[in-house]
Amino acid sequence: MINYDQFLSRSAEQMRGSAIRKMGTVLAQSHEIISFAPGYPSPETFAWHEFADITRELLSGADGNVLQYGPTRGYKPLLESIAAIMEQRGARTSVDQLLITTGSQQGLDLVARVLLDPGDVVLVELPTYTGAITAFRNVQAAMVGVPQEEDGIDLAALDATYARVTAEGRRVRLLYVVPNFQNPTGLLIGLDKRKRLLEWADRRNILIVEDDPYRELYFDSVSEAEVRPIRADDEHGRVIYLSSFSKTLAPGYRVAWIDGPAPLVGKFEIAKQAEDLCTGGLDQRVVYEAIRRGVLARQIPKLRRYYQEKRDVMVDALTQAFGSSVTWPTPRGGFFLWATLPSVVNSDAMITRAVENGVIYVAGEAFFVNGEGRNLIRLAFSSASKDQIREGVARLSKTVREEIAAIEAPASRG
Ligand code: PMP
Repeated sequence: MINYDQFLSRSAEQMRGSAIRKMGTVLAQSHEIISFAPGYPSPETFAWHEFADITRELLSGADGNVLQYGPTRGYKPLLESIAAIMEQRGARTSVDQLLITTGSQQGLDLVARVLLDPGDVVLVELPTYTGAITAFRNVQAAMVGVPQEEDGIDLAALDATYARVTAEGRRVRLLYVVPNFQNPTGLLIGLDKRKRLLEWADRRNILIVEDDPYRELYFDSVSEAEVRPIRADDEHGRVIYLSSFSKTLAPGYRVAWIDGPAPLVGKFEIAKQAEDLCTGGLDQRVVYEAIRRGVLARQIPKLRRYYQEKRDVMVDALTQAFGSSVTWPTPRGGFFLWATLPSVVNSDAMITRAVENGVIYVAGEAFFVNGEGRNLIRLAFSSASKDQIREGVARLSKTVREEIAAIEAPASRG
């Protein structure tokens, strides 16, 4: 038998699968389980009929380019539509600052490959998105966490962390943030903080990676101004902005984009050539047509209402089931509710019991680069039905009660 470990590159030795993807495997094995684990949009929201019409027309054979290789940058009309979307979001850009990526996940991978050497430090929020952790870890970067407040990343802690890491002789290259309805906490970074982050990045000569897949999915209490990208006020070219059609049209198309300083985007384009030559041409055209025909514009208000209702059902169910023993910041948009369980509970260890009881979530530790998050869980309210949300929360509550009883039982016997 050959031991294939001997053939692995140093970076491959360090690669770790995503905890959330692993949950997906558990799920696939059982249809009985109610899943609050992966942050999937609900397929019942997808514009199936419009996609079918668009695809039928595209596949008529009239235009051979539809199924041909295309430019690495992306399909030109789609790039132009994205420039218009960025403008609506308050950020002026141009096609030379844009690159279509195969999901924002590829955007994160390109950023990591182009900007990080082994040992370089990326500052991330505590907690942060697991897919970003994976991308940065793959290039052997070191991640250092910065705590969050109610209105997002703690700026004093950010600068103190920067100073500490730099004093240790390590090089801080990037700050990675998800300012709108963060995965996993659902938090928003306050407007004033967004401006101050830019000043900070200028002062410390750091680039900001702004990952923004959820901004369109804001609920009633949120104004358009509150979800203004940091990139919109980026006068000096400090921000690399990532966004995606995964949560607004469908993740299966894998169409997303980077908007950043032109010299960097040129490098991302070269790096992308080695990954996939180009993002799928049919996918890009379907997305372009969905924008041009107004499908996207009609979807967004529906999605806001749809996910807000699900959020409400989950919040009600949790309040009824747990009273004040479990707490969470009420998500004002996005897909996730970030819950703090009683401190005796280890949410990772509790997963086995949760699966037995027919419910699943993501344990908090997956989102922390410093090992915290023991009694935290991320609950996605996006893809389960309302009935499933109610039933799933009841199962979760049973699970937590049983877990606490099991933890306390040996102690009381002793
Ligand atoms: N960033 C964040 C914060 C996300 O939550 C996700 C999806 N879970 C992604 C990036 C990746 O999205 P996609 O690759 O589908 O565009």
